[in-house]
Amino acid sequence: MISDSYNSRESWQIEHQCPQCGAPVLLDETDHLLACSYCRTKLYLLSQGPFRYRLPPPLETAKEILYVPYRRYRGLSYQVRGRNIDYRVADLNLLTAPVKGLPFSLGLRPQVLKLKFVSPETEGRFAKVDSALRDLVETALQFGPSGSLQFMIGDVESLIYAPFYREDGRLFDAILKRPVIPWDEGSLEDLLEQDRPLDWQVRFVSTLCPHCGWDLQGEKDALVLLCRNCQTAWICKNSSLEKIDFSVMTGGEGPLVHLPFWRMRADIEGVRLQSYADLIRLANLPKIATPSHEAVPLYFWSPAFKLNPALFMRWTRQMTAYQPGGQAKETFEGASVHPVTMPLADAVGSIPLAIANLMMDKRKMMKLLPDLRMTLTDALLVYQPFLVRRNELIHEKMGLVIHRKALAFGAEL
Ligand SMILES: [Zn+2]
Ligand SMILES: [Zn+2]
Repeated sequence: MISDSYNSRESWQIEHQCPQCGAPVLLDETDHLLACSYCRTKLYLLSQGPFRYRLPPPLETAKEILYVPYRRYRGLSYQVRGRNIDYRVADLNLLTAPVKGLPFSLGLRPQVLKLKFVSPETEGRFAKVDSALRDLVETALQFGPSGSLQFMIGDVESLIYAPFYREDGRLFDAILKRPVIPWDEGSLEDLLEQDRPLDWQVRFVSTLCPHCGWDLQGEKDALVLLCRNCQTAWICKNSSLEKIDFSVMTGGEGPLVHLPFWRMRADIEGVRLQSYADLIRLANLPKIATPSHEAVPLYFWSPAFKLNPALFMRWTRQMTAYQPGGQAKETFEGASVHPVTMPLADAVGSIPLAIANLMMDKRKMMKLLPDLRMTLTDALLVYQPFLVRRNELIHEKMGLVIHRKALAFGAEL
């Protein structure tokens, strides 16, 4: 489903047991933390590659289950064509196994059914994921005219396995208990995974500060966990917590909330974008590039939290054009901070979008962007101060205003 309305979004939930006490826990697909309300355990969720879920077949099915993978993608999708940039929230669940005749999409099941994690103990057999079918997702996300450029900024990417079973030479949908296609046994072995790798399972990492042992702080969808005791920030990487650098900008009189942003530098092939002077030329800013501008490094800015596609695009452009600086500290003592919900890897996807937005020579831009190659050379998590008003948050210096509701909407994306 591709739409620009937030109400039509579908969200999946996952049933699991607390690894500590076995109590049932219900997770949202955007959750990074499992918090057990019974034993108070808090754990960081981790998987090798995308999370693999399955739709559990009804209990009374005694047949061998064949699980067929659907690739799930949710995120922001932008199409650039000359001066026009169009955008959507994309929400897709597409068949990614080469089995002709099966439903192309999972359709409207999320409201009713809960997912479970695939584990090495899951009974049944699994169809292979056909990576050639990835293009289908890209094609499905195309909504602009042909010849337009496309950027995607992901939110959820996972695999959902739907259950089927064989009966009387036909394949049945195990949930609807309806035959879907005739089934030729001969081709079966080629389609199925021979072994299920052990890494097909969710793993859990303790959320105690590796530095001082304090309980790390973070909302359930937070990617970065904070230690309020030793003033450090942590991210989960390769199954352990890794410390990351951050900076908290000061400023503003009155109650503040700090919103997180990724500040990035990149080497971009085919265009020089290293200094503020380069930006002045690229965007035709109403300034003359001086030698001192040549020495000021250029940073790309992206929100490190989810925002609706229009605001996300506007802020990447505005902040990159503004190049916010100022006084910073390396402690969030006393600061109220908004959780980081967008990983750096996704934020990097906003760099071509910012270039598309800022570059004045649109013909050159349409030539440059399709084969754009860039290497991230530096990144920092920067918390920017926003004044809290009754309905809005305001960044005084940059003149950025966000309705508090829009921030809540973003959190649901
Ligand atoms: Zn528990
Ligand atoms: Zn600590």
